[in-house]
Amino acid sequence: MTMATEIDMDADFITELTAKVPRRALAIFAHPDDAEFSCGGTLALLAKLGWNVDVLVTTSGNKGTKDPGVTPQFLAGEREEEQRRASAILGANEPVFLGFPDGYVAADNELRGLIVRHIRLTRPELVITWDGFRPGFNHRDHRYTGQATYDAIYPAADDHLYYPLDKEEELEPHRPVALLLSGPGEPNYHVDIEPVMRTKIRAILAHTSQMRGRTEREMLEMYRERAKQARESGLDGPVHRESFVKILLRR
Ligand SMILES: [Zn+2]
Repeated sequence: MTMATEIDMDADFITELTAKVPRRALAIFAHPDDAEFSCGGTLALLAKLGWNVDVLVTTSGNKGTKDPGVTPQFLAGEREEEQRRASAILGANEPVFLGFPDGYVAADNELRGLIVRHIRLTRPELVITWDGFRPGFNHRDHRYTGQATYDAIYPAADDHLYYPLDKEEELEPHRPVALLLSGPGEPNYHVDIEPVMRTKIRAILAHTSQMRGRTEREMLEMYRERAKQARESGLDGPVHRESFVKILLRR
């Protein structure tokens, strides 16, 4: 496995990949809305560039409410529907849910095997997930989904003796070209998402159960204010950006 640590301030890497590999990306996150907040702009850009974008969600977010009258089953159904709408807005395929209870994700052999199977099935060149190794990362589902994805990619998904029952479905080993870790402590790769800011915001707002009636205008203003503050504190490069740790897995 080759580790790349260069600082890359634009989307050249994605442009390069777009020209060179089958355009398949897989985003693996813990809850409905994680992908939209953390990398919705990048997923929208990939879809615009003709990539086939899949989204795998390890839970259905069935504890994400303060409403005492809502059951986990009802909430799961509602949030899965919101995720379907959000994925459609980004230009991604219909999302797949692994259905673990919200808050009970474990980075164990079962989750790793399910992710390996999904990687062998969708054969992504680019995988995007949470940075499960960031110190102090505050939701265990995020940490464990990120760690299980990292461990699924290398070496398990690419070695046929791991999870051999996949062979019965004629799923072949697969190694993506690159992994992007989202929500990182020390990013080394930034994607300029200015051209798709509105798409990202609309996809976030599709999660109506989480957004408490916020409007597109309010969201846009919030992001503009953040961008202004970042600029004032001396940030170089694109202000509307999504940042990652980029890890190259093969050339
Ligand atoms: Zn989450």
